[in-house]
Amino acid sequence: MSDEIVIGVDLGGTHVRAGAFTSGGEMLAVKETPIEAARGPETGLLRIQHLIEVVWKESGAQALLGIGVGSTGPTDPIRGVINNPFTLPGWENVPIIARLRNAFDVPVTLENDADVAALGEYWRGAGQSIRRLYAVTVGTGVGTALILDGQIYRGMDGLHPEGGHVILDPSGPPCYCGAHGCWESLCAAPAIARQARQTDLSNSILLGMAGGDLEKIDARLVAEAARLGDPSACAIMDKVAFYFSLGIINVIHSITPEMIVLSGGVMKSADLFLPHLNKAIAAHSVMIPSNQVRIAPAQLGNYAGLYGAAYTIWSTLK
Ligand SMILES: [Zn+2]
Repeated sequence: MSDEIVIGVDLGGTHVRAGAFTSGGEMLAVKETPIEAARGPETGLLRIQHLIEVVWKESGAQALLGIGVGSTGPTDPIRGVINNPFTLPGWENVPIIARLRNAFDVPVTLENDADVAALGEYWRGAGQSIRRLYAVTVGTGVGTALILDGQIYRGMDGLHPEGGHVILDPSGPPCYCGAHGCWESLCAAPAIARQARQTDLSNSILLGMAGGDLEKIDARLVAEAARLGDPSACAIMDKVAFYFSLGIINVIHSITPEMIVLSGGVMKSADLFLPHLNKAIAAHSVMIPSNQVRIAPAQLGNYAGLYGAAYTIWSTLK
């Protein structure tokens, strides 16, 4: 038991999680609840407050010193506002920092979820003591973050760079970001599923695996079929791995980090990507020794964001 804790909050489009942490990074309690964003920010904020109270109580700690929030973006860490009608419909200009500060009378920080997940890996996961750490999360989207000497890299106006929307193929599919063939539109889970649905599957086991329903084909199923040697699924995963590798090569050339940490649902199939990636890295080592960049799987899974959110507030308190 610890007398003093901070609470990390990880707010996603469907769920919110909270965890109580000691200054040494030990997680004493953790809980999650659906956010039901469509009920509006007021309901959501009350749920978050309640979750924090429950986790604080369960941790057994006397004092809550601060709260760190990591939220699905866009977020404004400087003004402390979530402005995210994309994954949190109706959540426009929600002043979450002011709200939690008033409720608990402690300092509160707000960061983008990709940034806190990367920070979590820096604090207690795969990237400990790595000075230039890049993180790529491939799931529903492609999220990226850069951690420099344990600090989140920010662009102008505190902006979070959107590496997932760098363009890899201008003749590729359209994305909601306005581009064609950005990293996310080529490699995220919905992109993998879409490619499968657009493929002639008459000689493939995929349709059978999906019970004959094209709409039931998702990225996980495509990866499973590829592992079983299905030619159509293998062709899709090869193409995705090709573009994924281009994205990583661009990161290596732009940033030259010591390590790139990979996470997210699609990266559970990293074994299908790594042979392509290793080949691409070997082929692109003329300007910089790309093969010296360590590619590592994330270690904290779904809790990376909680660790990182807690770390941001502990850093502020120090
Ligand atoms: Zn895009």
